[in-house]
Amino acid sequence: MTFVVWPGHADPELARRYYEGNARRRSELGGRLGFGRPDLPKCGVTTRAGTSCRCLRVRGFERCYTHLRLADRKKLNARREDLFRRGKLSPAKRRLLLERRSRTTLAAAWQRDPWIPGATIDLVDFEPEFRQAMAYAGFAVDDLPPALADKSRWKWRRVQLDGQPDDAWRTFLSFDLPKRVVKAGERPADTDSRRPPMMPVPLVVKAPGPYSKRRRPSPTPLRKVTPMKPVANVATDDDMVSELFPRYAAELRAPLAMCEGPKDERAVLTAFLALMRDPGSADALRCWHGVLRTLSDR
Ligand SMILES: [Zn+2]
Repeated sequence: MTFVVWPGHADPELARRYYEGNARRRSELGGRLGFGRPDLPKCGVTTRAGTSCRCLRVRGFERCYTHLRLADRKKLNARREDLFRRGKLSPAKRRLLLERRSRTTLAAAWQRDPWIPGATIDLVDFEPEFRQAMAYAGFAVDDLPPALADKSRWKWRRVQLDGQPDDAWRTFLSFDLPKRVVKAGERPADTDSRRPPMMPVPLVVKAPGPYSKRRRPSPTPLRKVTPMKPVANVATDDDMVSELFPRYAAELRAPLAMCEGPKDERAVLTAFLALMRDPGSADALRCWHGVLRTLSDR
């Protein structure tokens, strides 16, 4: 076996033992990706990129940890508690696992009720910058349902902090988020009485390092992207529309894809134009949300 002797390894014998030990551990445990163990069964679930998941199965289950089904996840949690009782899982590792579980259970509860208070992410030093970006788009973070404020923070981290394409943030703010806000409805009177299923421990966010995985682009989703509809027959008299289109293609693509005719397209463009002319106007924002609601309700 060849190995590099790093400057820190003054003793070549030590270096040899280090590398051989590493190689042995890798082949014994396989690691998450099963290096050196092609014989171990892989998860095989079809991912969003359309490839088959190559992670190792969790021992005793059919899938990897990421793709584990809810019932299996519960079984795994019970197994871990058992390991902890028998002294085979360290308290520190158990705490990390419980913290992660507090976040996943809250995310699951939010699927049913987005007004349950709590957070799964803490932007710490980046929070003011995030709030500024949200205010610029006309959203008061404190008025949003906690589930959507949380979702926006994750999105902001992914797009703004990890340096992913800016388009994604604009599409999120102008289409995805308003649609979800409408779906969540008005703040219910009894929000104070709601409690998350476990006390959530939010993930603390740091800036990504130079070689962080977070800098890698997201996999392209499998679903087909609907091509943008031509707008030649819509409000051609308005010069602003032709100016609007190339600049805001990202925001307009999704709403226009849901349109059923020139009438719908005109409604979308007019509402969007009004919003762009006066971004601070509550009326324009309400009108834009109304158009989106009409389109998504059909
Ligand atoms: Zn998997």
